[in-house]
Amino acid sequence: MKKVLLVIDYTVDFVAIEGALTCGEPGIALEDYIAGVTEHFLEQHQPVFVINDLHEINDPYHPESALFPAHNIRGTTGRSLYGKMHDLYTAHRDEIIWMDKTRYSAFAGTDLDIQLRSRGITEIHLTGVCTDICILHTAVDAYNLGYNIFVHQGGVASFNPAGHDWALSHFQNTLGATIIAH
Ligand code: ZN
Repeated sequence: MKKVLLVIDYTVDFVAIEGALTCGEPGIALEDYIAGVTEHFLEQHQPVFVINDLHEINDPYHPESALFPAHNIRGTTGRSLYGKMHDLYTAHRDEIIWMDKTRYSAFAGTDLDIQLRSRGITEIHLTGVCTDICILHTAVDAYNLGYNIFVHQGGVASFNPAGHDWALSHFQNTLGATIIAH
């Protein structure tokens, strides 16, 4: 089975203490794990996608404008990858695929499904933030599209501990995902 690693929203705005919509410490704590899994996939010549929110300033048509503070605005450093993932992306720009998304799910309005199917990928490995928002919505779409889902417990986090725990059980019990313990 061909697999892919998706690193979702591991950006300055979602992870750094000063980020505009930060997960804070639980997000920062993922840094070594996500960097390690990324290195592992690169060594095995397995594809890695970093998929990050892209928003426009004061976008009146975007539902998140009424729900969250402005984040991941086009052209800002908030959209840079955080910490070691930034370094890895800089060093492996020709291998790591950057994809923008504008909704919670990495599949919504992107060509991710086409990119994965063209590579013969059937197995999706999920890391990033937040477990109960963008990881959840991506996992639901992956389920509906028929992918096998693997969620790395040491590679996902949320600002909401109850939401994080609920999402992990939902991945396993409702989406049939395999939870990879850290
Ligand atoms: Zn957003």
